[in-house]
Amino acid sequence: MQTLPDRKAWLQGASANCSSPPHLVAHPRRLVLLGAPGVGKGTQAEMLASKLGACHLSTGDIFRAAKGMQECLQTPALTAALQFMRRGDLVPDETVLSLVSERVKCLKCDGGFLLDGFPRTVAQAEALESLLTKHRIPLDAVVSYDLRIDRIVARLSGRRTCSTCKAVFHVEALPPKIPGICDHCGGGLYQREDDRPESVRVRMQAYETSTAPLADFYQRRGLLRSISAEGTPEEICQRTLEALQAPK
Ligand code: AMP
Repeated sequence: MQTLPDRKAWLQGASANCSSPPHLVAHPRRLVLLGAPGVGKGTQAEMLASKLGACHLSTGDIFRAAKGMQECLQTPALTAALQFMRRGDLVPDETVLSLVSERVKCLKCDGGFLLDGFPRTVAQAEALESLLTKHRIPLDAVVSYDLRIDRIVARLSGRRTCSTCKAVFHVEALPPKIPGICDHCGGGLYQREDDRPESVRVRMQAYETSTAPLADFYQRRGLLRSISAEGTPEEICQRTLEALQAPK
């Protein structure tokens, strides 16, 4: 299995360099992944990253990495952003956009990219479009994962994440061999603060109001590929790869 890039430049910001950069890719793919929280975007991003060689760039991962930093090392904007995140609210566009702009070298990377969790509002989508145009970076497609709301809530409430390597499990659909322990590195599994029921309700509301309109935004640009997120992660990944090969 190929080793995935460590994404240091994305997670730590402009001054960091990846110590394991992406492999040389003949046809780098530049994709945005859309879908409600819990639809399985993160899992698909990981699978697609290893198949397409592109880096998985999640804005949520930037905030989670910042959460692990000592408070004195966090910028005031990041500390404020983490308060929004804990409640399940969207972080203000201005903060997210400055974090992404600082990391433009990740968008320019020869390995391509899979944006997960960004853009999340029409203002963010417009800003991304300007950033990509300015740097002459083409966007190949926007993959939108669709799933019924009751299935989403079941996925979120059972999700558990490894505190060390960030691998994702599910208490029923993808249980670890030993309850509470990561199969890959032996780290402890935890439930994300924002996967608790009170935060899930806020996140779903934020998704419906702010993020769902992005499907139309990208449909109008001829970039949208809608994929059913029913079935196993492997089935969904296969569907995605087929949709990406399909002519526009
Ligand atoms: P995620 O892992 O993508 O579900 O993101 C976790 C949380 O981080 C979200 O619930 C938001 O609070 C925050 N967040 C991540 N990406 C964005 C974004 N593009 N815009 C606003 N907030 C974001």
